[in-house]
Amino acid sequence: MATMNQPVALPRVPTEPRSTLRRTLGLFSTHKLELAAFFMLTVLSAALSLIPVFLIERIVNVITPDETGNVGDTGTLFVLVAAAVGIYVASGLLDVARAYVTQAVGQSIVFDLRRHLYGHLLRQSVRFHMSSATGAVIARVTEDVNQVELVLTATLAEFFKAIVTMGIAIALMFMLDWRLALLSVIVLVLWIYPTERVGRSQRELRRRFQAETGDMSTHIEETMSVSGAIVVRSFGRQPYEAARFDRSNEAMRQIAISRAMGARWIVMGTELFGYLAVLLVFTAGGAAVLSGNVELGTVVALAVLMQKTLTPFGLITRVNTQLVASMALFERVFNYLDLHVDVDDPVHARPIAKREVAVRFDRVTFAYPDTDEAALEDVSFEVPAGKMAALVGPSGAGKTTVTYMLQRFYDPTAGSITLNGVDLRDATLEDVADSVGAVLQDSFLFLDTLAENIRYGRLDATDEEVMDAARIAGLGSVIDELPEGLQTVVGARGYRLSGGQKQRVAIARAVLKNAPVLILDEATASLDSRLEREIQEATARLAVGRTTLVVAHRLSTVQAADLILVFEHGRIVERGRHEELLALGGLYATLHREQFASGAQSPALASGGG
Ligand code: ADP
Repeated sequence: MATMNQPVALPRVPTEPRSTLRRTLGLFSTHKLELAAFFMLTVLSAALSLIPVFLIERIVNVITPDETGNVGDTGTLFVLVAAAVGIYVASGLLDVARAYVTQAVGQSIVFDLRRHLYGHLLRQSVRFHMSSATGAVIARVTEDVNQVELVLTATLAEFFKAIVTMGIAIALMFMLDWRLALLSVIVLVLWIYPTERVGRSQRELRRRFQAETGDMSTHIEETMSVSGAIVVRSFGRQPYEAARFDRSNEAMRQIAISRAMGARWIVMGTELFGYLAVLLVFTAGGAAVLSGNVELGTVVALAVLMQKTLTPFGLITRVNTQLVASMALFERVFNYLDLHVDVDDPVHARPIAKREVAVRFDRVTFAYPDTDEAALEDVSFEVPAGKMAALVGPSGAGKTTVTYMLQRFYDPTAGSITLNGVDLRDATLEDVADSVGAVLQDSFLFLDTLAENIRYGRLDATDEEVMDAARIAGLGSVIDELPEGLQTVVGARGYRLSGGQKQRVAIARAVLKNAPVLILDEATASLDSRLEREIQEATARLAVGRTTLVVAHRLSTVQAADLILVFEHGRIVERGRHEELLALGGLYATLHREQFASGAQSPALASGGG
C-alpha cells in the first residue's frame, strides 16, 4: 500500500466473442506500424542472410579450374569473401533491430493484458472470489501471462522468420536448378508427417505436465497457507500431505522424462534427416556435375540452401507444436477476461447523498449462487438516519448476508435495497463503498505498516489523521507497545496483531472512511473483559451520528438498539425494542435467555456501552 499511487480507473475489457486465434491476432491490432516494421526487417534480414549463398557459389567456381584448367584470381576471392562478411554483419544488425521491435510490441501487449486481467478481476464480485482457487487466479495473471509473452516475443517472431527464410531459400533453390530444388522440396514434405505425429504426443505430454503443475500449486498453496498449515499440523497430517505431494511430484518426473526424450528423438531425427537430405543433393548434384550438366558451385550452393531450409523447417514444426499448445494458454487468459461482471456500475449512476442516510430493505430475497435455498426471504425493514438496528438470530439465519447485501457484494434476487431512496444498483460501486463502512470481526491486514493499513480507510489521510483515528479506535496503547509504533509492518508475514487489535484497526479504518452508514459485527466469543470494553467504547464512539446495523451478540447492544430485527431461516420473524420483544415471549425471548443473558455477566454490560 505504501506504493499506492493515485487511484486509477479500472481498465474495462471489451467483450467480443471471437475465436481464440483471431483474438490472439487481435492483440496486435494497435501495433500495426510496428508490425509492418517487423515484417520488413524480417524479410530483409532473411534475404540478406541468404545472399552469401550466391557468393559461395561464385567462390567455389573461382577456385575450381575450368575446362582449360585455369582458376580465378585471389583478388576476386578476397572481394567475394569480404562481401559475404559484410552481408552477414548487416543481416545480424537487422536482426537486432527486429528483436527490438518484437520486444517493444510483445511487452506492451503483455503489459496491457496483465493490466486488463487484474483490473477485470478486481471488478469481479465477491462471488468470484468465493468460488475460485487463489492459486489458479495467481497462476493466470503471472505464469500464464508470462507464457503469453514468450509466445509473442519468441515463438511467433521465430515462426515468422523461419517461414520467410524457408520461403526465400526454396525460391533461390529453384532459381539455381529447378530439378534439384524440386527433389529437395519433395524430401521436405515427406518429413512433415513424422514430425507432426511426434508433435502431437509432445502436446499431450505438455498438457498433462501443466495440469500436474496446477494441482501441485494448489496443493502447496493450501497446505502452506497459514490456516491450511495449522489444520495439517493439528491433525498431524504431514506424512499424508507429503505422500499426496509425492504423487504429483512422481507424475511430473515421469512426464518430464517422456517429454525430454520425445524432444531428443525429434532432434536426432531432424539432424539425421538433414544429413541425408544434403547427401541426396550431393549425390544427385554430383552426378549432374560429373555428366557436365551443372557447375560445382551450383551444387554447393544448393547444399548450403538445403541446410538453410532445414533449420527453419525444424523450427517451424517445433514452434507449430508450441503455438497450438499456446492456444489453450490464450484461451485460459481470454476466459478470465470474459468473466461476466455480475455486480457492476450502472450506465447512468445516481449519487447517494452522504448526510443522514436512511437504509431500507424492501422485500429482499436472495439466494447465494449455486444454492437452492434462499439465504434471505422477503426481508423488509428500514433504519432511519442516525438510528441503530441490531440484527439477532441463531447462526445461519442470514444476518451476515444482510451486511453483505448492504455493501452490494451481491445483488438481490428480488426486491431492492436503498440508501436515501437510491437503489444500490443505481449508484456506482465507489459511491456505495463510500457510503457504507464496515467493522468486521476478522478484517484483513495487508503486509505493510500499521499506518498504511489504517490509511486504507482514506488514502489521502495525513499522518496526524491516521494517528487520531488510531487513538479513537483504542490503538494508542497498542502502538506504544509495538517495536516501531505505527511504522511496524503487520499482516500475515509481519507482526501478528491479535483478533481484538485487528478489530481496532478495522475501527480506525472506518473512522478515517467516515461513511454515514456503519455495519458492525460484534465478536461472538468473549474477549478479555477490559479489551471488550475498550472495543465497545470505540465502536460506540464510531456509531454516533451514523445509521448503524449491528450483528449483535451483547445484551448491552440490543438494549441500546432503536430497533431489533430477529432473523430465523432468512426471514425477519420478530421486530421491535428489547422490552417489547421480551414481552412477546417468542424467539427473541428464548435467545435472550440462552445467549444474551449469559453475556449479562460480562463486564461489557456493566459498562453499559452502546
Ligand atoms: P448468520 O450471519 O446469521 O449466521 P449467514 O448470513 O452467514 O447467517 O448465512 C445465511 C445462510 O446463507 C446460511 O444458510 C448459510 O449457509 C448460507 N451462506 C452463507 N454464505 C454463503 C455462501 N458464500 N455461499 C452459499 N451459501 C452461503
